[in-house]
Amino acid sequence: MEKTIYNILLVSLFVVSLIVFIFLFFINAPYGRFTSKNWGLRINPKIAWFIMEFPAFFVILFYFFIGNKKESIVAIIFICLWIMHYFQRTFIYSFLIRSRKNTFPVLVVIFSILFNTLNGYLNGRYLFYFSPVYAVSWLKDPRFIIGTSIFFAGFVINIYSDYLLRNLRKPGEKNTYRIPFGGFFKYISSPNYFGEMMEWTGWAIATWSLPGLAFAVFTFANLAPRAISNHKWYLENFPDYPKNRKALIPFIL
Ligand code: NDP
Repeated sequence: MEKTIYNILLVSLFVVSLIVFIFLFFINAPYGRFTSKNWGLRINPKIAWFIMEFPAFFVILFYFFIGNKKESIVAIIFICLWIMHYFQRTFIYSFLIRSRKNTFPVLVVIFSILFNTLNGYLNGRYLFYFSPVYAVSWLKDPRFIIGTSIFFAGFVINIYSDYLLRNLRKPGEKNTYRIPFGGFFKYISSPNYFGEMMEWTGWAIATWSLPGLAFAVFTFANLAPRAISNHKWYLENFPDYPKNRKALIPFIL
């Protein structure tokens, strides 16, 4: 019974990704530079990020501890990768943000909580319960080695890019936008999104799993349209914006 519901939810995530991808080409998710008063009640971005990301941190841990793979070294490595990312996003990134107060719509928070809970369940339940045991030999498999390498590279790019963005504003400054430079900003306007996409693509390869793929597809569907909007926004708002910079993928897009 649970497996049937699981499979329906997994297919739903692929369908939702397609809907989100199309929708976001017409409407920018209304937070950050695209925030809007038309989306109802808005709260402090620090609180919003914390409560949105916490389920992603917590739900997978829950499924790890009630699962049947606690002795598996590969499973332990997978949970460590996930927790490394979501600990940073939930407990560090959220509190370092330098954004305007009360600009994050509760509606977006609700959607993100639902997504993070579903995604944590799909990945956690598969990896730590439904999946066949990953043998220790998986650690030498090219899929694991390539996948985790991409994941780590993406993690570094994501964190460093968010660090550069954050430091465009002085402490206490909240409204200003400036042109970012340094790191992968040399090539693209949204390297934080590029790093995030690398992470979950790496995750999909390392876990070689459908829920991993669903997460990578959703991340692309969610972030690619926004990266394109961000790029257009920079070009419209900064006449001196570097013309050779792409939106999301160096030299390509
Ligand atoms: P943004 O790049 O839009 O913003 C990141 C932070 O930097 C915000 O605090 C923003 O302020 C500030 N900032 C951005 N550009 C500038 C600028 N030019 N000058 C000054 N400050 C700037 O990222 P998101 O908020 O969309 O995402 C945050 C993190 O969450 C990223 O690492 C992203 O990869 C990840 N994420 C992952 C998703 C997924 O599907 N897996 C979905 C969404 C995000 P302000 O808010 O005021 O604009």
